Amino acid sequence: MKVKTRFAPSPTGNLHIGSIRTALYSWLFSRHYNGKFVLRIEDTDIQRSETISINSILNGLKWLGLNWDEGPYFQSKRLGRYKEVINNMLKKGDAYICVCSSKILEETRIKQMMKGDKPRYPGTCRNLSFKNFHNNDYVIRFKNPLFGKISFKDEIRGEITFNNEELDDLIIQRSNGMPTYNFCVVIDDLDMNITHVIRGEDHINNTPRQINILKSLGAKIPIYAHLSMILDENGKKISKRKNAVNILDYYENGFLPEALLNYIIRLGWSYKNQEIFSILEMKKLFNLKSISKSSSIINTKKLLWLNKYYINHLPLQYISTLIKKHMNNQNMNSDTNLMSVVNLFRNRCYTLKEIIRSFYYFYEEFNFFDQIAVENYLTLENCRILEEFYKKIEKLSIWEHIEISRIINSLSEAMQIKVNIINMILRISITGNVHSPSISTIIYLMNKEKILFRIQKAINYIQNISTKN
Ligand code: GLU
Repeated sequence: MKVKTRFAPSPTGNLHIGSIRTALYSWLFSRHYNGKFVLRIEDTDIQRSETISINSILNGLKWLGLNWDEGPYFQSKRLGRYKEVINNMLKKGDAYICVCSSKILEETRIKQMMKGDKPRYPGTCRNLSFKNFHNNDYVIRFKNPLFGKISFKDEIRGEITFNNEELDDLIIQRSNGMPTYNFCVVIDDLDMNITHVIRGEDHINNTPRQINILKSLGAKIPIYAHLSMILDENGKKISKRKNAVNILDYYENGFLPEALLNYIIRLGWSYKNQEIFSILEMKKLFNLKSISKSSSIINTKKLLWLNKYYINHLPLQYISTLIKKHMNNQNMNSDTNLMSVVNLFRNRCYTLKEIIRSFYYFYEEFNFFDQIAVENYLTLENCRILEEFYKKIEKLSIWEHIEISRIINSLSEAMQIKVNIINMILRISITGNVHSPSISTIIYLMNKEKILFRIQKAINYIQNISTKN
């Protein structure tokens, strides 16, 4: 049997961590078995389906590298096929027209509830025949078996059994002529030869209904695996419309796909005590048996930790290319020594965005000096250090790190000022604030022209302040 899985999101909101986990597990399972992965957009709920959500799904999956072998299929383009199956089911007597008005159904529901019964369709139209029915005000229902049990073996939860008596005669076509979710899923999984349905636990109750329809069509039943919930850091269920973060926001905020996938795979799946998984390892080790039945909780600290890990362990060239892309998006120039600059900063930062923020003064002019630092270091007295440094740098013909350190040391000796203090004055002048990696390295990686400009800018600043005072 060739494994074939699918990811079948409804485009009614942004792609979030929960949906990505479903996609990732389905994708990995197919990759592990050298099978196929299908992308299907379940957009029959026309009022709630949005193009913006479709774009979020396609771009999010592409960004993460969760490539699909077939699709994207759109249910809205398969309406003819659903109609064909419904007509056959009507002919065979596996489905029937129901003309019960919503008013009558509501009254029945209230009566059932008052009696303490579970509300369900009473089967009024089940054995009636409306062969030449022209009025539009009807729905089509599936003739669910009245008795017996329906069981399936969930790969994560084991045997799950429902009584047919509890299941309604499900509406498979609404009065507006549109087929319903449970019906379309069944026909699609069947037509697309899906062998394993991996999806959220909110679909467990749909599964017996879907299996009954599959059985009525004489189809093979796929294997099911229902994933437990993911809760946010406050213990609340993640919901598309309330607290879910669009997966593309993680891109904007400087996360790496490698880190995000590694983080997401561990939301419910484990392998020994291992935390770090390359994509290759994920494909090799992933299985349904090691998925947990309990819900998982979002842990942003862990995601940041993983992101920092990957920023520092993936090739510098790759990280620099991603940073360049982010800088281009922000219209930032990234010409000078980007790879060396990234190398200097990457072990200090958790996200690509944080790296760019930390080194932006390499590529953009800063407008403010740290005010406390100014009071302590950019003083009139210290101005002469900057002036001396300027002269020496201006004369420097070989732009080498060692030469720059030499200038700083000789200034320290000649002026009887500690190297640390000189470094701090230079740091504030060149970067605008008090924290940075080694200032001589920064000077070396910036070009001479820019260093002279920054030193002059600090001198002007000091002189300006002192004339004001
Ligand atoms: N379209 C459904 C959803 O977004 C998924 C259906 C399925 O996986 O069977 O929740």
